[in-house]
Amino acid sequence: MTGELPAYPVCELEFDAPDPRNPRYSRAEVDRFGHVPGAYPHLQHRLSLRKNLITGEFEYYAFFFVDGRETVVKRGSFAEVLDYGNARVREVWGDNPEWPRHVDVPCDHHRVCTRTCPRMRERLAEA
Ligand SMILES: [Zn+2]
Repeated sequence: MTGELPAYPVCELEFDAPDPRNPRYSRAEVDRFGHVPGAYPHLQHRLSLRKNLITGEFEYYAFFFVDGRETVVKRGSFAEVLDYGNARVREVWGDNPEWPRHVDVPCDHHRVCTRTCPRMRERLAEA
């Protein structure tokens, strides 16, 4: 690793609303990366974060462009899954400075926070 990467907060509360087309999962999804540099076409995929609203677990799934297949590659708590995504980005994108990267960190709904954090918005509305 070369130097510190910028931290990018992700708020777990933003994953509570169901996807109208598939209510078992969150409407919100965050892509961790959109493709894998140098991978063969049949291995090309994006990696996306969502919440399973039945189990309450977060998960990363790989979406393969060649056939539209989805494979869950990590399940767990919000922190565990974010750690997995950060490790995958290091593995896939390496240290190439031409590829912008960041480290996902959990929103604390206060100082390290997304602009769309529901708890932060409630506080701003009260003020
Ligand atoms: Zn938050």
